[in-house]
Amino acid sequence: MFRYMKKNKGLIILTILFSILSSLSFVLIAILLKNILDTATSGDMDGFFRILFFSIIYFAVLGLFAFLYSLFSKKLICVIINTIREKVFGGVIRHNIQDFHKVNTADRLSALTNDVKMVEDNYLLPMLDIIQNGIIFISSWVVMLYFDIIVTFCVLGAILIMLIVPGLFGSAMQKRQKRYSDMLSVFTGHTKDMLSGFEVIKSYGIRNYILSKFDKSNQATTEAKYSVEKITAANESVSMMLAIFVQVIVIFLSAYFIITGRSTVGAMIGMVQVSANLSTPLLMIFDSTPKIKSVRPIIDRLNDMADYTDNSFTGSIKPSYQQSLSVKDLSFSYDDNKPVLKGLSLDIEKGKKYALVGRNGSGKTTLIKLLTGNYSTYRGSILYDNVDISNLDYEKFTKLSATIHQDVYMFNESIYDNICLHSDPKDDQLQKALESSGVSRFIHEKDNGLDTVVDENGVNLSGGQKQRIAVARALIQEKPILILDEGTSAIDRQTAHDIESRLLDMEGLTLITVTHNLNADALEQYDKIVFMKDGAIDEIGTYEELINRGGGFYAFSQMKLNDPTE
Ligand code: ADP
Repeated sequence: MFRYMKKNKGLIILTILFSILSSLSFVLIAILLKNILDTATSGDMDGFFRILFFSIIYFAVLGLFAFLYSLFSKKLICVIINTIREKVFGGVIRHNIQDFHKVNTADRLSALTNDVKMVEDNYLLPMLDIIQNGIIFISSWVVMLYFDIIVTFCVLGAILIMLIVPGLFGSAMQKRQKRYSDMLSVFTGHTKDMLSGFEVIKSYGIRNYILSKFDKSNQATTEAKYSVEKITAANESVSMMLAIFVQVIVIFLSAYFIITGRSTVGAMIGMVQVSANLSTPLLMIFDSTPKIKSVRPIIDRLNDMADYTDNSFTGSIKPSYQQSLSVKDLSFSYDDNKPVLKGLSLDIEKGKKYALVGRNGSGKTTLIKLLTGNYSTYRGSILYDNVDISNLDYEKFTKLSATIHQDVYMFNESIYDNICLHSDPKDDQLQKALESSGVSRFIHEKDNGLDTVVDENGVNLSGGQKQRIAVARALIQEKPILILDEGTSAIDRQTAHDIESRLLDMEGLTLITVTHNLNADALEQYDKIVFMKDGAIDEIGTYEELINRGGGFYAFSQMKLNDPTE
């Protein structure tokens, strides 16, 4: 946890300084009380006014110290929480695509919200409490000794018994807290899933099913929380009983010493006051120690997220794509059991246009993902100008290609920002991208043109408009390779045709289109049709060559005529 505090040494020093000052001035109230009572019992009126004046100033300073401590400690917590979120989110963003998909998004959301809140409540606040109460506890012993050594040792005995308590509850609490955190993460996942499917829920009338599913998940989370609260309650009440026990010892012992003439009434009041400072802080420490222990697994989880390093592509060679992209004997599987690509080889020449076709599940999208470096666990090689992706500087490598997927993600920003992605294109570059992508055809219908803000998930745009924005987004960066993974499927036929034609006309651009449209007019414009079957390339050639050959592609295109869903 200290790693998140390193940058805030000044704030930590100020917080601890005012923690010490406010705690000490709080403990010394006992001596003030003793003097007030001794002055009162001695009937000294001058002394009374002197101590009254001193007390007013004393309490004003005490108030100021308490305020400054509270202010600095709150600021410290805000800054630490901010740093934790920054580091964890930074770690998440550093993930490669393969590792990113291994963990549920809801788990990460839960870490950034629920877990961070747990760290605040069960680690940072208790830690500050322990520091403050520790100071109160130690200085109270000194004051206690000043009052009476015998009472001090009796109280010490009682306090030693109290020390056993946190050990009794610590590990049970840790287990329950971890279970609660896991349940919260499952709960967040379920809820996110249900809300994401809102339209399906409405249109299929499954509200009752969803409500009961939510109730179950909600109930399980509440029970996990209650199980933490039960053990907290036991811990708190046992500790409180022991604290009362300490106070009772002090009261009876000092009363006895007043009778024997060893002590004064002022000293008794002072001791009762200061003994509360022995048990209450100890109580707080007991209360806080298991909480801090219990949050350890959660801190470990956050640290793991923050420390993530991507070991997939570690090369450093500057990538180039001047001649060719060659795939040699490429095999890949998402999990070890089922091979998806099986020893596939393919040459993609610079500036040529390729249409990738084949049945659903034949591996087209997987091939695209591998070409663009989404997965590193392939066998064989993917060579850009004869250098395998694994040897390339990955950050620079991503500048070689842009992919337009069927599902386009839109940020909740303006259409302009969604296209430019915070780069600053030249005017003619922007106009060219708007024109070629077909964005210019609909943008005037939007009240604020390019400044129109895209609503969450792009609900104020049609599927076709989103895809056109995605095409513009890809074109504006002028990358040498453009991949359309069914990227124009939601656009009307005419517009899709126009966009495709323009992309096909772009000299120097290598275009790879995954398409289900086997229309001769469209496919004839491509230099090569790559027909995939069962994770391998079955045939490759121009449209005419493949049709004339009458092989797999021909049979597939005939079948598509009869059943377009294939
Ligand atoms: P296509 O694009 O030709 O429809 P894909 O490349 O999407 O085919 O899928 C090829 C095979 O890989 C399918 O059997 C599919 O179920 C499987 N697959 C695709 N993505 C994943 C994934 N993320 N995890 C596991 N299997 C996957």
